[in-house]
Amino acid sequence: AFEGLAQRLQGTLQKITGKGKISEADVKEMMREVRFALIEADVNLKVVKEFVKTVSERSVGQDVMKSLTPGQQVVKIVKDELTKLMGEEQSGIQFARKSPTVIMMVGLQGAGKTTTSGKLANSLRKRNNKQPLLVAADVYRPAAIQQLETIGKQLTIPVFSMGTDISPVEIVRQALKKADEDHNDVVIIDTAGRLHIDETLMQELKDIRELSSPDEVFLVVDSMTGQDAVNVAKNFDDAIGITGVALTKLDGDTRGGAALSIRSVTQKPIKYVGMGEKMDALEPFHPERMASRILGMGDVMSLIEKAQENVDEDKAKELEQKLRTSTFTLDDFLDQLQQVKQMGPLDEILKMMPGFNKIKGLDNAKVDESQMGKVEAVIYSMTTQERTTPEMINASRKKRIAKGSGTSIQEVNRLLKQFEEMKKMVKQMTGAQQRGKKKMKMPGMDA
Ligand code: GDP
Ligand code: MG
Repeated sequence: AFEGLAQRLQGTLQKITGKGKISEADVKEMMREVRFALIEADVNLKVVKEFVKTVSERSVGQDVMKSLTPGQQVVKIVKDELTKLMGEEQSGIQFARKSPTVIMMVGLQGAGKTTTSGKLANSLRKRNNKQPLLVAADVYRPAAIQQLETIGKQLTIPVFSMGTDISPVEIVRQALKKADEDHNDVVIIDTAGRLHIDETLMQELKDIRELSSPDEVFLVVDSMTGQDAVNVAKNFDDAIGITGVALTKLDGDTRGGAALSIRSVTQKPIKYVGMGEKMDALEPFHPERMASRILGMGDVMSLIEKAQENVDEDKAKELEQKLRTSTFTLDDFLDQLQQVKQMGPLDEILKMMPGFNKIKGLDNAKVDESQMGKVEAVIYSMTTQERTTPEMINASRKKRIAKGSGTSIQEVNRLLKQFEEMKKMVKQMTGAQQRGKKKMKMPGMDA
């Protein structure tokens, strides 16, 4: 998502960053480009206007113009204001003081309500230790109930359903009883949607709302619909009142208009973003991190959190021990590789690394995952002994390994070299950590 916007903004800001002196004309010129970039990204016009006005005013201020690094100050202002636009702080879920916390999911058909209900249940169980109950309250399409039940089965999270012959309000009433009996501390209600907003749907949602007094009403909107998403948000909020937004399909090539406009227009925060179809592809929305990503400054925090979620702590400790004692083998290397793979598509991960976009040739390149497959194949073709003492791999062994893995001798060589380099690098890192002074510094961390 946001590729076009990111590219334009970064291009524009790059021109001004290094300047030792900037004039009002420079700012004006820059803001023309910023304005264009935002409009291209389908950001609400009123929002664009206000944004440009604020950034311009702040940028021509004396404290900026007279500073030693005016260009960098301007970049910081743009980042600040982008962050503000999206809501400043991460706003989590308002859990009820007395269980269960009731979360109602609303939105148009196809926005991602059912999928997001499942993802949210999964995330609340994983991150907040909750025991959610999913409620199938979309009675208009039998397939909708099935869809939620399939998701529930996949996650082993209970789904409450009563078929399609009962009113959604009654289903919710029964579901709340059931949650009480089974001690579910979160109830997530998946409601029906329509292609367009209509009175009957709104009345039904109001009724469910009245009965269940939800702690959160999440509007699920498809980010690909751009400014339409903003209108939908406004309408739902006016009609039934929402407490937050879950913005889906941000993994697609959405231009970003919805993410940048919804907050200003509705005053309601984006709480989650959907980053894919899989059940773990839901992320809490962090405005500051998103602004940072858009401006190519990376998102180290999300990266670290992702790693923490996926890396087995015991394994990490074991690995550290091995590195210290220099018993790191190709088997461990393979293990590492597989852990990285679990974190998600490589190119998504790399995008979160600061400065990544500045490495020439890598910015648009899809990282070749088949390359990782090859590495795995090569290691699998080695004997246990070879994996522990790669020094013993001579020419004839290389030939055998290449043949066994369907690769070439060059590829075996490359892997062995990579392995040696990684060993060296990691040794340096742990060495630095032990000395406790020279911390690894990532480029862009201080931006
Ligand atoms: P509902 O009608 O609002 O309940 O929408 P669904 O949950 O059935 O989702 C509609 C389609 O969008 C499904 O094919 C989902 O897999 C897909 N979808 C939902 N969220 C995301 C997302 O964050 N990314 C992607 N790529 N697809 C999504
Ligand atoms: Mg649905």
